[in-house]
Amino acid sequence: MSETLFSKIIDRSIPAEIVYEDEHILGFNDINPQAPVHVLFIPKIAIATHNDIKPEHDQVIAQLHHAINIYAKEIGEDENGYRIVMNCNANGQQTVFHIHMHFLAGRQMLWPPG
Ligand code: 5GP
Repeated sequence: MSETLFSKIIDRSIPAEIVYEDEHILGFNDINPQAPVHVLFIPKIAIATHNDIKPEHDQVIAQLHHAINIYAKEIGEDENGYRIVMNCNANGQQTVFHIHMHFLAGRQMLWPPG
């Protein structure tokens, strides 16, 4: 398993503002927030890109979504709404190769995203 910035956040070898944690999922504030709330939700197991998600990951991907739902409700943004985004590879502008869902909330989102 290759080490990434996010595996170092999981093992606490680099710091992050952790806002959500359960057995399988970690959520922490993005260092360069693009909205009043910008949290990165990651599985604790390493999956490099969206392309690498396999049927064996069904459970953890569901857990990722459940964690986001719990957090959105906890901070009172579930009814207002939010955006979740997963970037993949170069055209998607993925920079960290451990899948992560960007959770953006607290302002009106725009479309197209650019
Ligand atoms: P990507 O571009 O791969 O979809 O998203 C990577 C995200 O990680 C970016 O939004 C970037 O701001 C964030 N990021 C990069 N380095 C760090 C860091 O050291 N700590 C935290 N919390 N976020 C980071």
